Amino acid sequence: MNTDVLIVGGGLSGLALASKLEKSGVNYLVVEANDRLGGRILTKSVKEAGFDYGPAWFWPGQPRMARAIEELGLGYFGQYSNGSIKYEESDGKVFANRGFSSMQGSYRVKGGTGALINALAQRLSKENILLSHVLHSVEQTVQGISAEFNAPKGQVQIHAKKIVLALPPRVAEEKIAFKSEIPQTALQAMRQIPTWMAGQAKILGIYDRPYWRDAGFSGDAMSRRGPMVEIHDASPSEGGPYALFGFVGFSANDRLQLGDEILKMAKEQLVNIFGPEMGNPLSLEIKDWAQDIRVATPLDANGPGYHPAYGLPAAMRNLWDGKLIFGSTETAHQFGGFLEGALEAADQVFATLNVKDLQKVSV
Ligand SMILES: Cc1cc2nc3c(=O)[nH]c(=O)nc-3n(C[C@H](O)[C@H](O)[C@H](O)COP(=O)(O)OP(=O)(O)OC[C@H]3O[C@@H](n4cnc5c(N)ncnc54)[C@H](O)[C@@H]3O)c2cc1C
Repeated sequence: MNTDVLIVGGGLSGLALASKLEKSGVNYLVVEANDRLGGRILTKSVKEAGFDYGPAWFWPGQPRMARAIEELGLGYFGQYSNGSIKYEESDGKVFANRGFSSMQGSYRVKGGTGALINALAQRLSKENILLSHVLHSVEQTVQGISAEFNAPKGQVQIHAKKIVLALPPRVAEEKIAFKSEIPQTALQAMRQIPTWMAGQAKILGIYDRPYWRDAGFSGDAMSRRGPMVEIHDASPSEGGPYALFGFVGFSANDRLQLGDEILKMAKEQLVNIFGPEMGNPLSLEIKDWAQDIRVATPLDANGPGYHPAYGLPAAMRNLWDGKLIFGSTETAHQFGGFLEGALEAADQVFATLNVKDLQKVSV
């Protein structure tokens, strides 16, 4: 198979870049390892409402997200924040009225962040998207690059002028064999970039009633006991079902050891904080991103604990005469790590591709 720009990774950054290339009339392919698009964006439907197991928020002052929502014809709404925050001590004692909702002022996408992915994918030519193709090796050729994928029907080789790795640099360094030489400094730089939120896990409890709202609470809670340490309302913009989600405070290793026991503990915690009705969820599920090999490496098990200064390190620029390009949110200079950063990364890559030349001649 041949193309001009080979985008590896069908998350927000890869799809945003693809939509720019599609609009510009450049030949491209998006190749994704999973059997679904979205990457860290994972929205599951329950009774036709979307619930986010990955990112849920964007914020004022993020221009690309605002533009994408508008251009894609999507809706957005404010994070539910009526009512006060609850606080659970390490001994299980619960206090109410500990201040305002902590994520007040954050925005959410109507239908979940997956709506962004669906809307972008709909604007791409279907034949330009390959799912369930895992990139395992890539090399430089005279013409450009040659990439090898494990695919459902065996090995697939794709030749392109340029390859864009729209996936976490750490995952690339761990999982992809670079058969042509790459400086050690570049490999080291890739390894050193923590993948944003990769060590986290989210638990979602979905209910037919918003029991916490009925009792006058926002659904926000902080806990020193766990398993969830930070809980927020995750309900749709209108109607139900209703949901709370929590970031899990236990380490990736402890989560693994606990297995399903952690959901039992989470249910008990929700009952303890918000009352007995919380004992009967429609669904209670965990997404442990630290166990997702397309997102996290063992280095990500214990996240950095702060928001790193992201951007594209000098050592990762101009590799293979500019034919090997990095483009996940981690490479964005201003908003790295965020959804906004994924869109920024797509802009950055698009600016470095010589689109005029690519439009003229194709492979
Ligand atoms: C729990 C959680 C909560 C978050 N909350 C927020 C939030 O509220 N707001 C916010 O702005 N951001 C949040 N984020 C961050 C946000 O999810 C990311 O910024 C964004 O989704 C990154 O998009 P991306 O396309 O750059 O990377 P990814 O979404 O990681 O996409 C990379 C893609 O590459 C694919 N891939 C990997 N390896 C290969 C391979 N070898 N071959 C082919 N394909 C491959 C992967 O399967 C994946 O689809 C959160 C993240 C998590 C995990």
